[in-house]
Amino acid sequence: MSHEITTVLDRYPAYEAVIGIEVHVQLKTQSKIFCSCPNQFGCDPNTNICPVCTGQPGALPVLNKKVVEFAMMAGVAADSDITRTNTFARKHYMYPDLPKNYQITQGEVAICMNGAIPIKTIDGQDKRVRLIRMHMEEDAGKNTHGTGGISWVDLNRAGTPLLEIVTEPDMANSVEAKNYLMRLHTIIRYLGISDANMDEGSFRADINISVMPKGSKTYGTRVELKNINSFRFIVNAIEYEIERQIQANESGEKISQETRLWDNKNQRTVFMRSKEDAQDYRYFTEPDLPPVHIDDAWLAEIKTRLPELPHYKTARFQQQYGISAYDADLLTEELDRAIFFEEAAKICGNAKGVCNWMLRDLLGYLKEHKRELQEIQLTPHGLGELVAALDSGMINSKVAQDIFIEMVETGKSVAVIVDEKDLKQIGSSDELEAIVVAVLAANPDNVAKYKAGNERLFPYFVGQAMKETKGKGNPVIMQELLKKHLS
Ligand code: ADP
Ligand code: MG
Ligand code: ZN
Repeated sequence: MSHEITTVLDRYPAYEAVIGIEVHVQLKTQSKIFCSCPNQFGCDPNTNICPVCTGQPGALPVLNKKVVEFAMMAGVAADSDITRTNTFARKHYMYPDLPKNYQITQGEVAICMNGAIPIKTIDGQDKRVRLIRMHMEEDAGKNTHGTGGISWVDLNRAGTPLLEIVTEPDMANSVEAKNYLMRLHTIIRYLGISDANMDEGSFRADINISVMPKGSKTYGTRVELKNINSFRFIVNAIEYEIERQIQANESGEKISQETRLWDNKNQRTVFMRSKEDAQDYRYFTEPDLPPVHIDDAWLAEIKTRLPELPHYKTARFQQQYGISAYDADLLTEELDRAIFFEEAAKICGNAKGVCNWMLRDLLGYLKEHKRELQEIQLTPHGLGELVAALDSGMINSKVAQDIFIEMVETGKSVAVIVDEKDLKQIGSSDELEAIVVAVLAANPDNVAKYKAGNERLFPYFVGQAMKETKGKGNPVIMQELLKKHLS
């Protein structure tokens, strides 16, 4: 399938864009990174805090081992080099949500260096977005600015473990950037190391964008787009920013290095702050945390925890089940969806049938009712049986739709629903023939019109006969019988 996708760059062939992305992922550990406070979203302000995460003088951080393990998992998944001796560093700046006045992060050498995330380009080619690094650090608290000059500081988030993932400036347009973010999001969710929920801020992307004359060797000045909290906005935001920069270039205006925000209401980026004079954070090695050593045995053990990653699963699904790349991508977007598919396919042996039901009916239902796969009653076993019942001719496809909805809502099996509602398909020719004859006898005018050449009446007869069977007639046999009696 070839989709004609266009971006703003098609209208400015003299330019190319360069995009690099930094993502902050909040890791789903029980406790915070340097203390035993619960790492929990949505609690009352300042209830999950202690001397360490509020930065009291003399309080000592203790590293949460789970954070290192989650970072290692991400590194292995992205083919990164895992640094065997890890140190932390203090990055100094002053802000009310950071009472220590420094953030504990990693310095020059991060736990994961290099690596890549495989993505698709705009025309479906494979591409690897190279990673510069992934490092561990702590999140800051949260400021809320009210009216009348009053602000509140909630330190529950302070000390939440973060993994910051930084790419090389390898993406060439908004579609590649979106594909990268979606693929990274899927991988993080597969690994189970974060909820990666954009709304709640557990997956936050800063997108660096610059433009330059096509073929140029020097990158333009980059602008950073911050806090885009939905995949839906990413493409629009990048498209707008690329065009803004190109137009500035065209009119001889200088792009300044700055941070901008996406104003979704007005569909434009707006100035937030300048980045011209880079801050000096006075990095130095964190003296209160000893280096963390990763030995071969630990790394080997971590490798065994990794599931089959989405890009491998997609390729295998296409090969093993003969489904399209597009369908395979949708099925593997979430790990539980991929598992559901394979289990159901095993039950009925009709993977394509299961794929259709899942992508059309199941995803449609979940979207319409704003539910998650785990929140419905249908099991993989149930869907497998439904597809099998349809394939064997026990039910027809019209009835299958209704049974499907009932299974999703009640969890009953196909057999039970068919029995309770007397939904077994009528496939007996004798029974159907009697109905066909009766329907035609009741509609002499239409039969005459049909015989005079109005063949468009055929579906009308099918509908009437189907109604008589309460939707349970075998449609193929019924049509054959109608044709026979109408000729
Ligand atoms: P900071 O965090 O100070 O913004 P980093 O060096 O941590 O800077 O991150 C820079 C990000 O910006 C990386 O993802 C990098 O690929 C990207 N980047 C660097 N130069 C450019 C450029 N000229 N155009 C677009 N992206 C760029
Ligand atoms: Mg950075
Ligand atoms: Zn704490």
